[in-house]
Amino acid sequence: MTSEQIAYIALGANLGDMSKTLETAVEMMGDLPGVSVLRVSQMIRTKPVGGPSGQGDYLNGAVAIETSLAPDELLAVLQDIERKLGRDRPSQERWGSRTCDLDILLIDNVIMDSPSLTIPHPRMHQRQFVLAPLNEIAAEAVHPLLGKTVATLLAELEGSEQ
Ligand code: ATP
Ligand code: CA
Ligand code: CA
Repeated sequence: MTSEQIAYIALGANLGDMSKTLETAVEMMGDLPGVSVLRVSQMIRTKPVGGPSGQGDYLNGAVAIETSLAPDELLAVLQDIERKLGRDRPSQERWGSRTCDLDILLIDNVIMDSPSLTIPHPRMHQRQFVLAPLNEIAAEAVHPLLGKTVATLLAELEGSEQ
């Protein structure tokens, strides 16, 4: 049996009723066996970054959960929620529009890199739309590879944009 770990999940949506979708995604996470939702950030509207042009704005947020699931099990149940919420993509383009995107950002101090799962999420520290909501619920969480808190990573990213 795996012991309980704290994990942070990024939520994103840019199709349909985004606010309703993300609210439902959080509810569905809370209903999963072996998962409790600890904190939920505000959902913020952001401009699309990367990907094809012409996409609508995104709604992004982050949640903290406590879970006894192994990382690959957690990914599988999150992908199941994405599917149930109708994650059909109008195109298969990388970083294209989608109904619901759930990414695992951090799981305690876990560091792993398999073909299907990289933790910490490899692009989290470069994304304001991930770090800003995460900072609201986990400013002091430490990125185990970079050895910096979420608050520091966000400040560095915002500083580098000026
Ligand atoms: P990005 O990962 O840059 O945010 P994306 O979320 O649009 O892009 P997806 O198409 O949702 O990418 O996911 C592609 C694959 O990424 C998934 O099938 C999954 O196996 C893999 N993956 C690797 N690490 C993670 C992670 N930490 N969280 C979620 N998926 C991951
Ligand atoms: Ca993503
Ligand atoms: Ca994803």
